[in-house]
Amino acid sequence: MTGDHRTEAFDIVISGAGIGALTLANYLAPLGFRILILDRRPGFDPVHRGELVQPIGLSILEELSLLDDLKKLPHTDYRSFDFLDEEGHLLMRSSYQAGTGPFPYALAIEPHLMDQLLAQNLSSHSHVVIRHASDFRDFSVDSSGVTATYERDGQIRSVLARILVGDDGRHSRVREIAKIPGTAVPYRDSYLGGSLFLPEALESLPPAVADTSGRYFLGPRSIFFFFSVSERRRFFLVLLPDRDREKFFAGGTASVLRHLDRQVPGFAAIAIRNGLDDPARFMELSVWKIDLERWSDDGIVLMGDAAHAMNPHVAQGRNQAMEDARILAPVLSKALLSAPLVRREALLPYEMARIPVTRALHRLADEMTRVWNSGNPLVVRARKAAFRGIGRTPALEKKIVTTIGGSRIMPLTPWDKLRAILTGLFPE
Ligand SMILES: Cc1cc2nc3c(=O)[nH]c(=O)nc-3n(C[C@H](O)[C@H](O)[C@H](O)COP(=O)(O)OP(=O)(O)OC[C@H]3O[C@@H](n4cnc5c(N)ncnc54)[C@H](O)[C@@H]3O)c2cc1C
Repeated sequence: MTGDHRTEAFDIVISGAGIGALTLANYLAPLGFRILILDRRPGFDPVHRGELVQPIGLSILEELSLLDDLKKLPHTDYRSFDFLDEEGHLLMRSSYQAGTGPFPYALAIEPHLMDQLLAQNLSSHSHVVIRHASDFRDFSVDSSGVTATYERDGQIRSVLARILVGDDGRHSRVREIAKIPGTAVPYRDSYLGGSLFLPEALESLPPAVADTSGRYFLGPRSIFFFFSVSERRRFFLVLLPDRDREKFFAGGTASVLRHLDRQVPGFAAIAIRNGLDDPARFMELSVWKIDLERWSDDGIVLMGDAAHAMNPHVAQGRNQAMEDARILAPVLSKALLSAPLVRREALLPYEMARIPVTRALHRLADEMTRVWNSGNPLVVRARKAAFRGIGRTPALEKKIVTTIGGSRIMPLTPWDKLRAILTGLFPE
């Protein structure tokens, strides 16, 4: 590896081209700031996963005039999700219409399609550069700015900027080098994910697979989330208890597929046709909790999973990274008008607005993890009753849907929870 003495200059250098970075650059590009985004991946290659863009994310895309373009890409709109028990009995249908969010629906899409769209929208701004295959390594700060180093094509390069943004994910190197204190731990359970590409003749499919509705099957220590990301692609997540793949596949993939087939009849045959009789074809998706005391320092600021990776039970990580960008953009643009180095003091309004929201989501996600992932018969019984009760109580459904939509966090109070369980156990 050789050194390179040329140092480029930008206003902002971002490590990681995640959705947070791309959204931030879309907010700031029209203002003329010089932005360099570094990502170690070779490009925005397809990753066949599904993620939900909640009403809060949709409102950000609309603000950036990108929502109409996103809707031209393969996706599925979700006005509601069904929660069912392991036998397929409906416990609750939660409808976005019941919430107070800016849109009465969410949208499911393969995340690379959305990332590509946001990146493409930056291509008309010559002062914004996305550099792939570029591994951020280190930084130093002095009164003239931040010097960041990265490795590309076997060469170490450096760039001088006024602020370094860490959008480099849950294992953020920016966070590590800056020694930001806080919690960074994996959850005990993770997920296995799989994508099903369906044959052209959809009418030949079993109705439960052709059906594009979003279904969460919750059983004792089992979760199966099956939904559609386009007319011909389905995505699913299955809980992997204790992150133990071997134990999960102990009876072979056939027994796992048979189990899921009981919930979505016809699933196993399509899964096998997609190669999922091989355990290696399941994607392992671990789940982390990052909860930090602060998100910035002189010359650096964190966003997205680097600042607040959260359990996907709240289906918010991508959406909250976008919200970080919406709040950080005006804070940065103001700070960049004055000093050569953006100091922590100038970044405090961002931290103060964002940390309490992501903490509240962590608390909610932890509680959902305790209840949803449980195999304890009492908890399972109370959970079923609570789902039924929430479905029968509009005021509670409104709180849940508004929170998951992301625009306002309205956790259930202890009295709300008791009311949900009692209403579920004793209707009328
Ligand atoms: C099972 C599961 C389901 C989920 N479902 C949803 C959902 O439905 N809705 C939702 O909103 N969220 C969901 N999420 C969360 C969502 O995927 C993340 O929160 C979101 O992608 C985080 O975006 P980010 O901007 O932080 O960047 P990330 O997606 O974390 O990207 C970080 C980028 O940094 C790059 N990078 C890392 N280190 C370096 C380095 N040293 N140098 C250069 N580049 C580097 C990486 O290559 C990567 O491209 C889910 C997560 C999981 C695990």
